[in-house]
Amino acid sequence: MISEPQTREETLDPEEWSDLRALGHRMVDDMFEYLETLRERPVWQPMPDDVRQTFTTPLPQEGQPAGEVYEEFKQNVLAYPMGNIHPRFWGWVMGNGTPLGMLADMLAAGVNPNMGGGDHAGVQVELQVLNWCKQIFNYPADASGLLVSGGSMANLLGLAVARTARAGYDVREEGVGASPARLTMYGSVEMHSSLQRAVEVLGLGNNSLRRIPVDANHKIDLAALRLKIAEDIAAGMKPICLIGNAGAVNTGAIDPLNDLADIAAQHGMWYHVDGAFGALAYLSPELRPLLAGMDRSDSLAFDLHKWIYLPFEAGCVLVRDREAHLRTFTLTPPYLVHATRGLAGGDVWLSDYGIQLTRGFKALKVWMALKTYGSQKYGRLIKQNVDQASYLAEMVENSPCLELVAPVELNVVCFRFTAPELSSERLDSINREILIRLQESGAAVPSGTMVGGVYAIRCAITNHRSRREDFEALVSDTVRIGEALLGEGWGS
Ligand SMILES: *Cc1c(COP(=O)(O)O)cnc(C)c1O
Repeated sequence: MISEPQTREETLDPEEWSDLRALGHRMVDDMFEYLETLRERPVWQPMPDDVRQTFTTPLPQEGQPAGEVYEEFKQNVLAYPMGNIHPRFWGWVMGNGTPLGMLADMLAAGVNPNMGGGDHAGVQVELQVLNWCKQIFNYPADASGLLVSGGSMANLLGLAVARTARAGYDVREEGVGASPARLTMYGSVEMHSSLQRAVEVLGLGNNSLRRIPVDANHKIDLAALRLKIAEDIAAGMKPICLIGNAGAVNTGAIDPLNDLADIAAQHGMWYHVDGAFGALAYLSPELRPLLAGMDRSDSLAFDLHKWIYLPFEAGCVLVRDREAHLRTFTLTPPYLVHATRGLAGGDVWLSDYGIQLTRGFKALKVWMALKTYGSQKYGRLIKQNVDQASYLAEMVENSPCLELVAPVELNVVCFRFTAPELSSERLDSINREILIRLQESGAAVPSGTMVGGVYAIRCAITNHRSRREDFEALVSDTVRIGEALLGEGWGS
């Protein structure tokens, strides 16, 4: 006989729904308040040691009220942000996120579908987003694609399909070790590091990623590329993939994408474009001509958390040849056999197009954002960032103590403080210190890089909150700190 249980089963749902609901409302209100007043706060500040210490407590055995945990979040987490959502953050290449994106992520976590497969609304949302991405980039309607964590994963998937499609044998079954000829891929020295990681993970080896020099504008040198391909073929290698930069990470330079398409076609190579941020400039009719030839790519990687300004994480890869894409990843063990009816039905299982089986609902924030703002607004925001980069470059050129370190083609400005008769070591040292003081004072966050052997302060502008006055402040802060350092005899 089954006896009545003494107590009810446990659950993680609240005992008192109204309490958690009230806390939820407070969280939403607090975050809106926080976002509304963002501009008044420092961009970044170092975390004091006593706060750092709070993150060393051992695993909680017993719980505590959610309200207390939330207070701790406000004090110790919210108060020491990375700063990338701030109007004066231009470090590396990041995005801000949006209030709508925040809400969409909450809804996505609430519904919490597994986007690997099955027949449910979430899959329709992602398929529609992928179709919209194809429309944005002039890809054919029967192309395939997948939302991924970001540009790194999008590049990895693109190169994985390239390897399967062009190896010339069943590389999935036999592995790269079975190739009679070394499989090589090509791109410029300005390629993003994620491409190196991709060839390493794919087993091709870093040496198989051929790095071609760039010209004075940081674009791939086509003559050097042709020569390297010819040399490699003569040496018995098999070039399988050519990679174009649509917005190189360091300088924003865009490779001659049409010429690269021609060269790839001539050698039967797969043509992949890394457009992590730059590809999105396609949304602006004024900027689109810069990317001519990008729509001839076989695969295209881009980030929605950079120039679509969505909360992390959201990237995308598009693949022209759906069959090659499927052939790279499809794997259906018996416990995942797709049905024709019921929840295990559905024409498309997104897990067939990538590495992850269980996948989160990042499609929802993309879908809601594109519906709410429309593609034209993004085109205008992207153009606004590019105009801000020109404005910053102009101020740099007009300042006697600043100089550009690379030409500004898109949204990346590399510049430095300079003064007559300083050694290059001292200039580098002063500029490194300027960057740190900008960050530590909370005034602004650019990042640093080396361009042509010279240390540069680098602003990559993918920020929908920046205004012209923010760049004016950056210029005057940089000059003020630079002159103070000269006065201190810094680095001498
Ligand atoms: C940011 C970036 C990547 C990597 O993208 P993640 O989203 O950080 O994984 C790749 N290529 C370029 C050009 C980038 O700017």
